[in-house]
Amino acid sequence: MKAKLFISLALGLTHAAVAAAKLNVVATFPDFGVIAQAVGGDNIKITTLARGTEDPHFVDARPSFIRVLNQADVLLEGGAELEVGWLPPLLTGARNAKILIDGPGRVVMSRGIRLLGLPTGPIDRSMGDVHPAGNPHYWLDPANGKIMAGQLAEVFSRLDAANADAYRANLKKFSDRLDQKIADWTKALEPYRGVKVVTYHKSYEYFAERFGLSVVGQIEPKPGIEPSPTHITALIPRMKLEGVKLLLIEPNRPRRTPDYVAKATGARLLLLPDKVGAHEKVTDYIGLFDYDVAQIVAALKESK
Ligand SMILES: [Zn+2]
Repeated sequence: MKAKLFISLALGLTHAAVAAAKLNVVATFPDFGVIAQAVGGDNIKITTLARGTEDPHFVDARPSFIRVLNQADVLLEGGAELEVGWLPPLLTGARNAKILIDGPGRVVMSRGIRLLGLPTGPIDRSMGDVHPAGNPHYWLDPANGKIMAGQLAEVFSRLDAANADAYRANLKKFSDRLDQKIADWTKALEPYRGVKVVTYHKSYEYFAERFGLSVVGQIEPKPGIEPSPTHITALIPRMKLEGVKLLLIEPNRPRRTPDYVAKATGARLLLLPDKVGAHEKVTDYIGLFDYDVAQIVAALKESK
């Protein structure tokens, strides 16, 4: 009896050891998850918390997240206070030292990335600006995808040295592919350099900087603050004066105000996925830019 118990315990441990061989990686957002999958390949298991259709600043923190975080070896978070509104209480509940601040598995994806919109003066949080630590939508510059992938290869290799060669090879493949695609996307958007756009939220600043679009305003008076009649009344004549061609909004936004502004100004309203999963056709990182670039090119061709 004792021997049997011993054997089954030993087998159980072996199974546990085999299961633990795959790094258990949890990503706050799908974009971090798909990049991690490209670098980690079969050696990691990815779970993503927020959906691509959610507003990244106001994620619905479901109780199941606590169990997922409790079992994580690695946590990928955006940083720049992107998850400040929902992640901290979940981490307290998860009681997992590996992924606490300074834990071996805590990865801040913005590391090494030059953030736009860094505050130049004192920050007044009572104003409700959800970008107090700089603009956190940096994954919308595909060149930043290479920086994120580079950090992930480094982290996975440190935590799982046996597969370091595979992580390095996957990183090279991903970066080379991205370089090639960035050249293609840049070429496709080249004829529209300097085209003026207005966005709902400051989601597309990095995309615009990379591909030469000029963002002249937002529907929101400040990031995270609902549009007000005063703001919209001032925005409309400015958009007309500047000759704004496109109004870019995330697919999950309420449509009433954007529809009104588009109608009043003649700008073309374009639903532009800001994340992987924000549209059913956008399922990976390269696909996000393939889709968005094609949408913009098609809209601007028509408006010419
Ligand atoms: Zn934001």
